[in-house]
Amino acid sequence: MEVAKSINPATEELIKEYPRHSKEEVISKIKQANNAYLKWKGETLPERSKYLHRLADVLEKNKEVYAELATDEMGKLLKQSQSEIEKCAWVCRYYADNAEKLLAKEEVKTEATKSYVTFQPLGVVLAVMPWNFPFYQVIRFLAPALMAGNAALLKHASNVQGCAYAIEAAMEKAGFPEGLFANLNVGSSAIEDVIANDTIVAVTLTGSEPAGRSVAKIAGKHLKKSVLELGGSDAYIILDDVDLDTAVETAVFGRLQNNGQTCIAAKRFIVLEEVYDAFLEKFTKRMENAILGEPKDENSFYGPMARVGLRDELHQQVLKTVSQGGTLHLGGEVPDRKGAYYPATILTNLKPGMVGFDEELFGPVASVIKAKNEAEAISLANATNFGLGAGVLTGNKERGEKIALQLEAGNAFVNKLVASDPRLPFGGIKNSGYGRELSSYGIREFTNTKTIWVD
Ligand code: NDP
Repeated sequence: MEVAKSINPATEELIKEYPRHSKEEVISKIKQANNAYLKWKGETLPERSKYLHRLADVLEKNKEVYAELATDEMGKLLKQSQSEIEKCAWVCRYYADNAEKLLAKEEVKTEATKSYVTFQPLGVVLAVMPWNFPFYQVIRFLAPALMAGNAALLKHASNVQGCAYAIEAAMEKAGFPEGLFANLNVGSSAIEDVIANDTIVAVTLTGSEPAGRSVAKIAGKHLKKSVLELGGSDAYIILDDVDLDTAVETAVFGRLQNNGQTCIAAKRFIVLEEVYDAFLEKFTKRMENAILGEPKDENSFYGPMARVGLRDELHQQVLKTVSQGGTLHLGGEVPDRKGAYYPATILTNLKPGMVGFDEELFGPVASVIKAKNEAEAISLANATNFGLGAGVLTGNKERGEKIALQLEAGNAFVNKLVASDPRLPFGGIKNSGYGRELSSYGIREFTNTKTIWVD
């Protein structure tokens, strides 16, 4: 029987095997989700809100258990797993409290007696999700989708099936109608049949660019709506007026949090030449001193990557960059220990066309790039196929804002690391995907924006 394996990336030990669902089981879960949807869409928003509040309570109550599960399955620091669960509870409560306002009908003055726009649920939505925030990525989609009146099926990453089943169990504990949400434990080759099923109305995917392209192609073929939140190669422009110590702290945390595996992590640091040497020196010291250790050890600043294979791919990207003329300034050696560990690494002397400049480096590897002036910094920041997040670190907020407006990204932050927030839309442009999650924009993605005209 085919299984999904959970392997602890800190020890390479097998945690558990989860038998895959058969085709028949998948079809039955799709049917159940649709039956549940037909009732759920008739619930009032205050009624739906009660369920979401209960889900937030369940998440908080079981925070320690869920956090440990996430850490065991994908290696993030335990304290960061705990924060992830807290953020999930926040998102549930945000939508529980605000969905009514976000989905309120919009009156439009026309010659009609009455004309307005209303937002109605679509049906059963498939969510294809990654392992890097195994709870949050799911909840970020699920909370608004449910409040809007939809049902949802999850195809989670194969290496975090423990988390996937834990979310399903949390939904049950919160008392949601049976089948309204279910985990489909299937590999990616089973996705086409799910999307093709007449009951599935839309698909959302968070993950890599190739996975996004594949799912978008299938969705296009079957004319199903899709939302894609793909990778990024976020540039942070460091201006000459910056407080260097603060900038270095931000840069180090931005690159190493979640063990370097965040779509909106700070990946390319574009530094004005006036402060380049000083920044690089301080940044190198801090990266070198950051403790790489066990995810449950409170002294660790960062831990292993999620899978040994992902670590090896990252190492190949580093080696390729060097073979293309980039400089390995720090790190870049696979440690002689068990686990998917990779050291904090810095690449310099990079140009567009090199792997370390062009590709998403999904691990603790920072690209540091010198820019002659502000205009060149902006142009280097935008010289990427990605467009998820970007940042400016400066002593002058107005100057930072002017630059932020010129950055080709879905999210541009001044003096703060890009972060998703339920009150604000989140998503990318270019190869980082399309559509938005969170805020009113996110909740409306999976609704029928319907015009009503009464003459
Ligand atoms: P993937 O993007 O490949 O996986 C994300 C999800 O998509 C998983 O559920 C996966 O399932 C599924 N998937 C993978 N390939 C396909 C496909 N062809 N069709 C449909 N679904 C698919 O992540 P990986 O774990 O393989 O990581 C590879 C790289 O992806 C990373 O190094 C990083 O660059 C990027 N990534 C980016 C993320 C982000 O948030 N931007 C998150 C995770 C990864 P399954 O696990 O069963 O293969």
